[in-house]
Amino acid sequence: MNIHEYQAKALLKEFGAPVSRGVAVFSAEEAEAAANSLGGPLWVVKSQIHAGGRGKGHFKEASAGEKGGVRLARSVNEVKTFVSQMLGSTLVTVQTGPAGKQVNRLYIEEGSNIVKEYYLSMLVDRGTGRIAFVVSTEGGMDIEKVAHDTPEKIVTFSVDPATGLMPHHGRTIAKALGLKGDLVKQANDLAARLYAAFVAKDMSMLEINPLIVTDQGTLKCLDAKISFDSNALYRHPDIVALRDLTEEDAKEIEASKFDLSYVALDGTIGCMVNGAGLAMATMDIIKLYGAEPANFLDVGGGATKEKVTAAFKIITADPNVKGILVNIFGGIMRCDIIAEGVIAAVKDVGLKVPLVVRLEGTKVELGKKIIEESGLNVIAADDLDDAAAKIVSAVNGKAA
Ligand code: ADP
Ligand code: MG
Repeated sequence: MNIHEYQAKALLKEFGAPVSRGVAVFSAEEAEAAANSLGGPLWVVKSQIHAGGRGKGHFKEASAGEKGGVRLARSVNEVKTFVSQMLGSTLVTVQTGPAGKQVNRLYIEEGSNIVKEYYLSMLVDRGTGRIAFVVSTEGGMDIEKVAHDTPEKIVTFSVDPATGLMPHHGRTIAKALGLKGDLVKQANDLAARLYAAFVAKDMSMLEINPLIVTDQGTLKCLDAKISFDSNALYRHPDIVALRDLTEEDAKEIEASKFDLSYVALDGTIGCMVNGAGLAMATMDIIKLYGAEPANFLDVGGGATKEKVTAAFKIITADPNVKGILVNIFGGIMRCDIIAEGVIAAVKDVGLKVPLVVRLEGTKVELGKKIIEESGLNVIAADDLDDAAAKIVSAVNGKAA
């Protein structure tokens, strides 16, 4: 789960990390009050969407002006102008894709005088099973590009959970960033606070880009992006309360209500599969036959008819889906339950695209019989290869 920058900064502030003063606003009136309360002389109006690259992004609407999604303002009037231009407009960044994201919240923040921008992030490194730090002198820009072009400018290390963060970690960061004097102490203090926040809140990723040195000689987190481990959210109701459903895929929200593992993708072939491994293999084989999956979907081991029906409806509701492949290996899952679920869903919402069903395993004969007797226009397949070939050619309008 992801949160907005202003929420991330409020959280980091709880742990004593240095962030700027700011107010989140939803309207022009709130923005004016916020700007007055912050006092100036420099303000920053920041679009709050779950995507990075806002500063270099652009709005789709001409009425939103030429500048990007993060704008420096030098008067309350200028803040008001930017707010009226940006609120409700669609921001396109390298991370949103061409469709962009509508900006419904803005963060009005005090402006900092930046002397230098750095990069700092933390993540769970699966290789070492530890929390790792990634730091670089090349802050404020695309870190993927830095990693590609000048990997020597990125320093990483991981922290032993048995000792937690130690002073030498702070010194490693300071050295990597070329910090001197009091800034070394500040880096040490900041690292300890970020590490504490990361562990306490079960984060999976924390990115400060840029981390800056101000003209006052202090370190400050000027941007903050946090992702949380979904599996640990049950013990953080305060974090769950920060969820912004408008930022999430409607189909994924619906799927989560039914406890389905569903991830929306860009392709045209909807997949309903049981078991994550088989779901991955199904996606692979669809690609092998020259098409792209529209989703990852694992209906799970002991799915009910209701769950299967919900899953099928989520797939058919996606306008990009031009064909559906149901691929079930019945172990704990019974093929007749899948068949009944699919039929119930088709009766409810109809079937406008080709459907290939491959069933194997427990109660397979009964499952096939239920589908045959339903009179549905289903293309039966015998194995995974056959199923993928049939759905791809059905979508491409050729006979299998
Ligand atoms: P994004 O990464 O989505 O583009 P950032 O929050 O990193 O958004 O902002 C982009 C740039 O805008 C920063 O690299 C920094 O140069 C500038 N900026 C952001 N916030 C402030 C601020 N409070 N004061 C001064 N400059 C800022
Ligand atoms: Mg940034």
